[in-house]
Amino acid sequence: MAPPSLPALLRKLPAVDEVLRLPLVVTLVIREGRAAVTDSIRTAVGRLRDAIVQGQFDDQQLDFALEGLPDAVERQLARSLQLSLRPVINATGVILHTNLGRAPLSVEALDHVRQSAQTYSNLEFNLETGERGQRDIHVDRLFQSILGGSNPAAASTIVVNNNAAAVLLALNTLAERGEVIVSRGELVEIGGSFRIPDVMEKSNGILREVGTTNRTRIADYESAITEKTRVLLRVHRSNFEISGFTEQPSIDELVALSRRRNIPLVEDQGSGALFDLRTIGISGENGVLGSLRAGVDVVLFSGDKMLGGPQAGMLSGRADLVARMRSNSLFRALRVDKLTYAALEATLLAYVKMDYESIPALRMMHLSKDEITRRAESLASLVARPGLDVAVIDGESVIGGGAAPSAVLPTKLLSLTCAGFSASQLAAKLRASQPPVIVRVEDGRVLIDLRTVFPEQISALAGVLTNVRSDIGADTGT
Ligand SMILES: *Cc1c(COP(=O)(O)O)cnc(C)c1O
Repeated sequence: MAPPSLPALLRKLPAVDEVLRLPLVVTLVIREGRAAVTDSIRTAVGRLRDAIVQGQFDDQQLDFALEGLPDAVERQLARSLQLSLRPVINATGVILHTNLGRAPLSVEALDHVRQSAQTYSNLEFNLETGERGQRDIHVDRLFQSILGGSNPAAASTIVVNNNAAAVLLALNTLAERGEVIVSRGELVEIGGSFRIPDVMEKSNGILREVGTTNRTRIADYESAITEKTRVLLRVHRSNFEISGFTEQPSIDELVALSRRRNIPLVEDQGSGALFDLRTIGISGENGVLGSLRAGVDVVLFSGDKMLGGPQAGMLSGRADLVARMRSNSLFRALRVDKLTYAALEATLLAYVKMDYESIPALRMMHLSKDEITRRAESLASLVARPGLDVAVIDGESVIGGGAAPSAVLPTKLLSLTCAGFSASQLAAKLRASQPPVIVRVEDGRVLIDLRTVFPEQISALAGVLTNVRSDIGADTGT
């Protein structure tokens, strides 16, 4: 008998309506709605059509595939209805991991988001007068109380989408068509797409570089000042350090120059800590309060780095300058929504109460090596067995977010190796598990740092490690 022709095979493909009448598919329609199921049928049948055209099926194989069509539709439906943004277990030990969403929010922040967003709120409504209000008052008050120590009467804060937006708004407001003096050693790129010279250009400010890559003196700033100078800009280098033959003016020298010549000093601080960094062993970093206290006019910082809150960019400082930024029409384009205000307000309230433990990123930074060791040893004893080697070793966690590039926190790591599998194969298996587990790979080992794993995730992590282990056992026939 001659093999069936291509058109004959294609004619066997059912119409969408026929598939919709199959019993399993009928239950799918009841559960997820006709539109989504219809889409999945088209995709699944389309796949069969492609396979036929590519000559992958004979008559019998096609019949077999058609029998499996309802299951294929169900699998396709599950894939297409799965949310793309999913929780993962961050076992990298990088606390403010930009690719994993930076700071996890506190329970209080999440509760406040839910409460204020599931109904209407007084976002821009003055409950006393019944008139239109301003959305920024919701957090300005808390920033004043947190930063008040520096200059109670003057410190005021507005919030925009992120720190990059804060830099754009500050420079556009203060320096449009005027000059901004920056040290060559601070013309940094942060996170791939944020480059100080590019943002400067978009802001319509004119960049005036001074000094050299490794050395800039206060005299370099002073001699660059002209009648066109609008801002002295200090940029935190964030993700790199210059060492060796270096020189940089102190904040005090910059403040003195800015006062003497009456030119605002703006600091792009990035990580923007609102707590004493010495509590995590970092010295020589100002934090927001330190800079304001030293006399910086406006400090720009992120909401989801050291602050431990939602993505946002803050402009804090001299009330007259911040008021100018608020009235810039760019502010309207860069402003944040109620979800951000709610999360930020609840996070800031924890600072007012000095309840640092309630903010996950701060809690992780303060977690002791002893406690991590205890957790690591108990997890190791749960998952170790022949086929999967687990050792508990010394290591370092990373704060991330450009906080202090060389600052690390001592930790204990689980080091995993598996005969017959490379570390990157093991890491890929962990990523593909449910929930996905993201690890570090170093020197041919998979490293797991429990500093960034929430205690309530540890049993899920143990489950994943146990399953990966039996997967590997099955693959290698052991
Ligand atoms: C992180 C950082 C930025 C960018 O902040 P986003 O909140 O990611 O926009 C800008 N400047 C400095 C110094 C930073 O550290």
